[in-house]
Amino acid sequence: MKMDSQYQKNSNFLKTGVTVLKGVSPYRQRLLAKLGVLTAGDLLEYFPRSWEFLPEPAYISELRKGMDASVVGIIESIDFKQFRRPPFVEVYLVDNSGNFRLVWFNGGYILNQIDIGMPLLAYGKVSSYKHQLQMTNPRFRVLEEGEYADVKSLGGSVYPATKGLTTGQIKYLIRNSLETLCQHVPEFFTDQYRQKTQLLSRKTAFHQIHQPLEQQEADQALRTLKYEELFLMQLGLALRRNRVAKSNPISVMGWDKKLDTHIRRRFPFMLTEDQDAVIDEIVADMLSRHPMNRLLQGDVGSGKTVVAVYAALMAVANKSQAVIMAPTEILAQQHYDNICRYLEGSRVNIKLVTGSITGKKRQKIHEQIKDGEIDIVVGTVALLNDEIEYRRLGLVVIDEQHKFGVDQRARVRKGALPHTLVMTATPIPRTITMTAFGDLDVSVIKHSPPGRGRVKTRVVEQGKRDEAIEFIHARIKAGKQAFFVYPRITSSEDETEVKAALYEHKRLSIKDFPEFEVGLLHGRMSAAEKSEIMESFRSGKINILVSTVVIEVGVDVPNATIMVIETADRFGLAQLHQLRGRIGRGQSDSYCFLFGDLENEIAAKRLAMMEKSHNGFEIAEFDLSIRGPGEMFSTRQHGMPDLKLANIVEDFDLLCMARRDAAQFVKDDPLLEKPENVNLREAIIDKYGEKLGLIGIG
Ligand code: ADP
Ligand code: MG
Repeated sequence: MKMDSQYQKNSNFLKTGVTVLKGVSPYRQRLLAKLGVLTAGDLLEYFPRSWEFLPEPAYISELRKGMDASVVGIIESIDFKQFRRPPFVEVYLVDNSGNFRLVWFNGGYILNQIDIGMPLLAYGKVSSYKHQLQMTNPRFRVLEEGEYADVKSLGGSVYPATKGLTTGQIKYLIRNSLETLCQHVPEFFTDQYRQKTQLLSRKTAFHQIHQPLEQQEADQALRTLKYEELFLMQLGLALRRNRVAKSNPISVMGWDKKLDTHIRRRFPFMLTEDQDAVIDEIVADMLSRHPMNRLLQGDVGSGKTVVAVYAALMAVANKSQAVIMAPTEILAQQHYDNICRYLEGSRVNIKLVTGSITGKKRQKIHEQIKDGEIDIVVGTVALLNDEIEYRRLGLVVIDEQHKFGVDQRARVRKGALPHTLVMTATPIPRTITMTAFGDLDVSVIKHSPPGRGRVKTRVVEQGKRDEAIEFIHARIKAGKQAFFVYPRITSSEDETEVKAALYEHKRLSIKDFPEFEVGLLHGRMSAAEKSEIMESFRSGKINILVSTVVIEVGVDVPNATIMVIETADRFGLAQLHQLRGRIGRGQSDSYCFLFGDLENEIAAKRLAMMEKSHNGFEIAEFDLSIRGPGEMFSTRQHGMPDLKLANIVEDFDLLCMARRDAAQFVKDDPLLEKPENVNLREAIIDKYGEKLGLIGIG
């Protein structure tokens, strides 16, 4: 208990407002707040962006052109060339070995800091001017009489600054309170553990990251603090996973060969090898005494829905209900239609629940769900309605899980602990499944069912647009259909994006394709309008569909074999890959044209990857290495704080190590009750308790 209160005391100090620290005035406090620094602990965790280790001062006679050097000397002369263009201050510095010219362009401001006879430390690049060595605009520091010429005062930690607060001022603030702050840093690991893993103590790590004497010290500190950050995250995930695994939700389900055959008979095709393998994993999960928590990945059209239907039928055969939640009405309707087709003539009862079903009709469905009359419920977020109660919820399937927030995913379960299968067509790199999705088991459908056409992808530069339009023209004349996609950029579709689509719709229907029917679909339309347009497209009345994002998770139109994606360079490659999966659903070859700005070298490289590869994972990994995780894959999106130091791509090895170690901790001490883990337990509750629902371990 004593250790407990020690942790609390320290953490209370670190959670106090920054003004508790020396030298932090209310004025400074406001500036620091702009940097996200509110508490003392925030300042401690306001890490340097980089460090500069400057060379020790050289003698003037040792200086050579091109050197980065520090020099110390006495100011011998000062001359302000006020009327030159630009005006400059010229100083001659002497030491025992010679004298040396320093120049500050537009340097009038330094005149009141320097005087003849003062000792001066300067750092800069040595250049030459008229055969004479010099430094222009060197960093400098006027030394006190007898002060040691410490080059660290010119270099050291570089902090991200803001208007009104320079990196130097931040450095000064931190230097002033670093000792005090470090005194309140609790240790997480035993000496023995730190030796084994070659970690610094936390105190040392915080000290060294702010004031390293050399690069190696900074690197050591970084490694320790990155490890800690990743470890805490992995520990939180492992604890949650462990807790779910320990809970016994529903009665255990049964399964045998007969049931398997019975279910498979519902599908008008043989399942692929990948589908079979995934079904094996899901069946094993659903036969266990603990709730399944599984992520199923596979390209659009790879056959995920079929797998979900299999799982749903297994749940139904076990006298429980299954719910399938999709992000849009169009998609929910499509799932519903497909499943109805599979289930034709069976006794399984299936119902659609969306926002457009209202009044008496909705009430009736709710009652039927409660009575257990309905076996499979397919729907949108309307499923989150508080009025919905299940009689016996056995399985939750969430399609395109990234379209839902963390709490929505939790709410669909209605407080029960059903088996959960989340599906996504966005290829997710392994680094991400280990972090953002770290508490899920992962299944992958790598290969799509046979008999689909190929999607040929071409990147089109600005000047080649007309050629592409001409090509598309010919295809449409031959009876094919095309998507023109103006994907959304902001997370919820905004005015300008809708406007862009409206404008393009006009341009395409008047200028480029006057003889064809061009339809428009965007997120601001009502559900009824949307499905009407979709229906016209599906039936072929509309030849070209201009849309914002709606089709991203939408529709199955085998005759649509052309897709144009505008401003493609602004999107994640995983998203583009998912989008183009919308075509190539029929037998014939399909064409995806990526319009974009290719001036930017990185943009060009990224889009070229789309031409080259058809492997979603390869594409996603590649993009991750270039662009970082982005919004869709950010940890925050998944209810966890962003990482401050660690980068899951660059620090992949540390991530793996932290994951392995965290699993071991939870195995050895599932509730972190051992005395040596007390600080760790407090820290994890502080950081992840609410977010990961870990309060219970406290
Ligand atoms: P996803 O949900 O992954 O986008 P679907 O399950 O909707 O994919 O399947 C896409 C299409 O492929 C559907 O028309 C479905 O009927 C068909 N399909 C699924 N599995 C197979 C299979 N094993 N063999 C042939 N066709 C299949
Ligand atoms: Mg699907």
